[in-house]
Amino acid sequence: MSGLLPVEEAQSRLIALRAPLGSENIAFSEALGRYLSEDVVALRDQPAAPLSAMDGYAIRFDDLPGPWTVIGETAAGAPPARPIGPGEAMRIFTGAMLPAGADTVIVQEDVAHDADMLRLTGDGPGTRGRHIRSQAADFAAGDCLLPTGTRLTPGAIAAAAMSGAGQLAVGRRARVAILTTGDELVQPGHPLAPGQIPDSNGAMLSAMLAGEVDGPVLPHHIRDDRETLAKVLKELARRHDVIVTVGGASVGDHDHVRGALDDAGGRLDFWKIAMRPGKPLIAGMLGDAILLGLPGNPSSAFVTATLFLLPLVRYLAGAREPLPAVHRAPLAAPLAEGGGRRDYLRARLEQGRLTPMIGQESGRTLPLASANALLIREIGAPPRNVGDAADYLVIA
Ligand code: AMP
Ligand code: MG
Repeated sequence: MSGLLPVEEAQSRLIALRAPLGSENIAFSEALGRYLSEDVVALRDQPAAPLSAMDGYAIRFDDLPGPWTVIGETAAGAPPARPIGPGEAMRIFTGAMLPAGADTVIVQEDVAHDADMLRLTGDGPGTRGRHIRSQAADFAAGDCLLPTGTRLTPGAIAAAAMSGAGQLAVGRRARVAILTTGDELVQPGHPLAPGQIPDSNGAMLSAMLAGEVDGPVLPHHIRDDRETLAKVLKELARRHDVIVTVGGASVGDHDHVRGALDDAGGRLDFWKIAMRPGKPLIAGMLGDAILLGLPGNPSSAFVTATLFLLPLVRYLAGAREPLPAVHRAPLAAPLAEGGGRRDYLRARLEQGRLTPMIGQESGRTLPLASANALLIREIGAPPRNVGDAADYLVIA
């Protein structure tokens, strides 16, 4: 199996083909799944002042066990009207600023409030400072909250919004074209003549790229014709950062991606990876566009898109860690020894244990529907037993 590129080397070469795309400023409503192109640094303390964490009464701890005179109330949204003095309490609600002079909050369940008199009926606060969110307990002005390259999850968006920022600087997303190739392919739902099949990879790749690239990507389709393919590739390269072809990546008489890349004036960077499925993967440049040629078998297309296409578009969009994370879990079924290429077995992770799916042939589609992990079997790995640990990638 000499001449096949190890997966990691191919991944490095692929992202070395182009630098991440530029930066743009966006609103929070657009931020989900984007990657920061600048650190988010806090512009303010959070909380900006000590706040009550409960509904109750602000008091001076030294005045315990009371009683107190209630001199007014304060709620979230505006500062208290006045400070409290010795023997005084102020009604306070969650999120309200603490009045000057107060250092503790008693929860309302622990007191009886009658006219303007307040008496302790429960255990009381116990310690000075109880039920108070102290200033900057969450973060302080100047703290780096989210470093460059962070993926903006809902939680990260919450932190960014609380930082005081009004917009976010994020990496521009790649303009991607999907080009499915094959005389046998018909758009899903259209009538099929004998020998034809629905183009499932186009729909699958559009779905995989949703939210990862610039706009929705509708697949183009062309027949197995080298001349047309070269023409279309050239045309697409002018308007896209990445062109993904599917099918025609191998060495058959009807596999034209490699030849068409040459004809179009492109440059091959690598071809053929030490992996199964997915060996015939092609990468090259055509003008400023990266050409990634995925093999056509549905499982091969899925695995290579997971390991190469998604990391590539995430890298171009500014991701700090574009590669899928490798996890480890015990096997729920034995595993035969590894072969001459690294296997990415479609598998299910259930209750913390991994089971390879029945039907690992690369032409199968149905196992993709229920797999939630890619189980990694290294080249020449010894056979493994139930309970042995194995590496996997999450593919929800
Ligand atoms: P190829 O890589 O073109 O040799 O295709 C390998 C296998 O994958 C063949 O059986 C093709 O019919 C099938 N195939 C290629 N492209 C697609 C596609 N877009 N959707 C579903 N199957 C495909
Ligand atoms: Mg084909």
